[in-house]
Amino acid sequence: MVMNASPPYQPPQPWSDRLRRSGLVVVATAVALTALVVLNDLTITRALLVFICIAGASLVPLQLHDVVRSRDEAAEARLAEGAAVRAIVAGMPDPAVLLDRVGRVLHMNAQAAQLAPALRRNELALFALRSPEIIAALRASIATTQMQRATYVERVPVERWMELVVSPVSMPTEFGGIDNCFLMTFHDQTQLRRVEEMRADFVANASHELRTPLAALSGFIDTLQGPARDDVKARERFLSIMHAQATRMARLIDDLLSLSRVELSAHVRPDARVDLVPILRQVVDGLEVLARERQVTVEANLPSRPIFIAGETEELLRVFENLIENGLKYGASGGRVVVSLAQATEGDSTPEIRVAVRDFGPGIAPEHLPRLTERFYRVDVGDSRAQGGTGLGLSLVKHIVNRHGGRLLIESVPGKGATFIACFPPVRAATEG
Ligand code: ADP
Repeated sequence: MVMNASPPYQPPQPWSDRLRRSGLVVVATAVALTALVVLNDLTITRALLVFICIAGASLVPLQLHDVVRSRDEAAEARLAEGAAVRAIVAGMPDPAVLLDRVGRVLHMNAQAAQLAPALRRNELALFALRSPEIIAALRASIATTQMQRATYVERVPVERWMELVVSPVSMPTEFGGIDNCFLMTFHDQTQLRRVEEMRADFVANASHELRTPLAALSGFIDTLQGPARDDVKARERFLSIMHAQATRMARLIDDLLSLSRVELSAHVRPDARVDLVPILRQVVDGLEVLARERQVTVEANLPSRPIFIAGETEELLRVFENLIENGLKYGASGGRVVVSLAQATEGDSTPEIRVAVRDFGPGIAPEHLPRLTERFYRVDVGDSRAQGGTGLGLSLVKHIVNRHGGRLLIESVPGKGATFIACFPPVRAATEG
């Protein structure tokens, strides 16, 4: 708008044109004066003086004209720059505020106005900001004209971790000089913090899980080298415990590797056409020994015809192994685990292929259900460890099912058992046939 209000821009006349015009005046003057000298109407000295005056006069307007024009152009350029700065601040994706050299607000964008509603144009930002960290950073930046960073927590309306960067910027002034201004930008770091916290928790949990069996192993090695050196009975017992602990460590590492592999390919949907019936049969057969050990009968209600989904056999084997093994371990008291495979349609949604693993054990209290698929989450840590569990099984199951475009449902009535249902979309038309 400001730019439209100013007169239309005219390109400057080329120097050569202007010089040629002044040259013509000078040459015409010289010819006229020479004629007057030849006709004895003027002395040479006077003619020379007149010539100098006229030649000078013909050049001076040229200079003045240039000065006026360059001032107009500079003013116009400054207006354009001001509008550009405003547009840049307004278009910044994060909250941004431009301050003058004493900290008065020159421009700010809508996000900044939302973040700090007390900020007003032409008023000192220091009075409108609440967080002591921001105020300290801004003061330090104004005093030193150095970039300053600060992190602080916004508590309302939701808790957010914010980072503030105050950067000194040089801005052209109205009179052609340079002024030190400050650009405050705010960056939401909440997501990053959460990921960092999760990673730190994960490393702490994984190290803890590995350290426990490792401590047991080294304890038994010490005992076997020392007091139990010649005790054959104790040696046999300790070796079998050591074997169990080593197996647990190996299992934990296997689960960790599987989890990171599945996470890496989380966005790639498997496209091989696989029949779930033989996969489920293979898992049930493979767990026969464990079932017998736990005195649990496994009933497999599988259809006689093939049921195809788009999937990856190895990963699907891990899913059903984990679910059925959990049923055998944690639901053993029910004496029965039922594995069923069926196609189900809920409401008017597209049909799903559902694999349900149901046990009749103690079940799971409702407050644990939403957290069961978190890494290392267990209802009873001691029980899980005693069963050789890693706390990663259901997390792996959920990741694999998600990668297959499906979902995991968990239903339980305490005292009556638990049902884990892995739902998969039916095979797509392109992969069918
Ligand atoms: P874990 O290696 O401990 O078995 P999972 O991720 O497979 O880890 O399971 C997490 C926790 O969920 C288990 O420690 C157990 O407390 C609970 N859980 C899983 N399946 C069942 C079940 N069928 N019945 C009761 N609790 C279960």
